[in-house]
Amino acid sequence: MITKAYAGYSLREKERMNSSSGGIYPLIAETVLSIGGVVFAACYDALNVMHKKIDSIEDLSSSQGSKYVASDLKDTMRQVEQCLKEGVYVLFVGMPCQCAGLKSYLEIRKVDQAKLLIIDFICHGAPSRMAWNAYKKSLNDRGRELIFVNMRDKTTGWSNGDYAWYEKTSDGKVIVTPRRKAPYMQGTLANLYTRPSCFECAFKGVERCTDITIGDYWGVGSHLPEMDDNKGTSLILIHTDKGIQTFNAIKESIRWAEGSIDEAIKKNLCLVQSTTRNEKSYEFYKRLNSGEDLIQIINDLLKVSMMSKIKNKMKYLITHMGGVELDLTSSFSTVDCGSCEQYNTDSMEVAA
Ligand SMILES: Cc1cc2nc3c(=O)[nH]c(=O)nc-3n(C[C@H](O)[C@H](O)[C@H](O)COP(=O)(O)OP(=O)(O)OC[C@H]3O[C@@H](n4cnc5c(N)ncnc54)[C@H](O)[C@@H]3O)c2cc1C
Ligand code: SF4
Repeated sequence: MITKAYAGYSLREKERMNSSSGGIYPLIAETVLSIGGVVFAACYDALNVMHKKIDSIEDLSSSQGSKYVASDLKDTMRQVEQCLKEGVYVLFVGMPCQCAGLKSYLEIRKVDQAKLLIIDFICHGAPSRMAWNAYKKSLNDRGRELIFVNMRDKTTGWSNGDYAWYEKTSDGKVIVTPRRKAPYMQGTLANLYTRPSCFECAFKGVERCTDITIGDYWGVGSHLPEMDDNKGTSLILIHTDKGIQTFNAIKESIRWAEGSIDEAIKKNLCLVQSTTRNEKSYEFYKRLNSGEDLIQIINDLLKVSMMSKIKNKMKYLITHMGGVELDLTSSFSTVDCGSCEQYNTDSMEVAA
């Protein structure tokens, strides 16, 4: 079947705000749980990111939201196999490479996949776990122990990539930092510590081996303005009949409209194209391996000169005033996934 595109967001306001885009994932997960199925998705476990089996609606919240860390699958594939062999419905959500890996595993082991629903997402790339652990250490070294994080807090907005980094530390402090000033997000989107496999990702493209692909519908306001209220809208790509049935099952709980794959790609190149390595990543790892502080390294490496700032500002103005599509990538060239862009870290507020 040819992939169909939709724009959509959940009508459950609170749940939608806890998700990174339109809150489509929790609705699908709930549908699977309500028929006695189980969900395998990436959760926080003592702030480590790993896939877990979820079997009740109450436990869904920790799986919501984008975690910019490569999730640890542990023995998830074996657990999925076991559930399917017992005739249990399974929803697996993961990065496109994880989904493809699971499919291959089940095919090799000749496991019946009739009761398996697989959802992947548009994937910029996965930051290494080493960097995430170093970030937590960096805060610890400043006397601040991280106890909660939301890497995509939408209370500051969503449409222009205006989301924020929300963190809570054991001293009771809550800090909400615009993502453009949050050190870990700056390093993530500038590809300082994206895993090397992501630069030649074999799982790009509109057609996928999954049933549904979800992502941020960046730019939805320009061709479907009624679908953008600045609280997050999902791009939903349906690839299979199972995907259609699932979409039909949640339709009453969402606001939706037919979308355009071409329009979506314009603002979300990560759907079809790998992101590019930041040449400074070699220096990043060298310094990190020698024991330097992560926040300091990010701060040093992403500093841009005044001249670069002026050039970037001019490029931005030409693009937006002239309506011409220009490549906004910079000296830290990345593929534009809608929210990646040049970072000005000269004014970065480092949590001290
Ligand atoms: C590393 C990463 C890169 C991304 N890059 C892009 C991009 O370039 N363009 C784009 O449009 N969208 C991207 N997304 C997806 C997007 O941010 C939303 O996660 C997606 O649109 C789903 O949103 P939602 O509101 O429906 O549900 P949410 O509640 O936000 O659901 C998130 C789902 O993603 C899973 N998940 C979260 N983090 C991970 C992880 N580290 N590994 C595996 N699974 C995880 C959760 O388990 C959950 O099932 C990325 C997500 C991640 C984690
Ligand atoms: S970019 Fe490709 S290889 Fe990297 S995490 Fe995403 S799907 Fe996997």
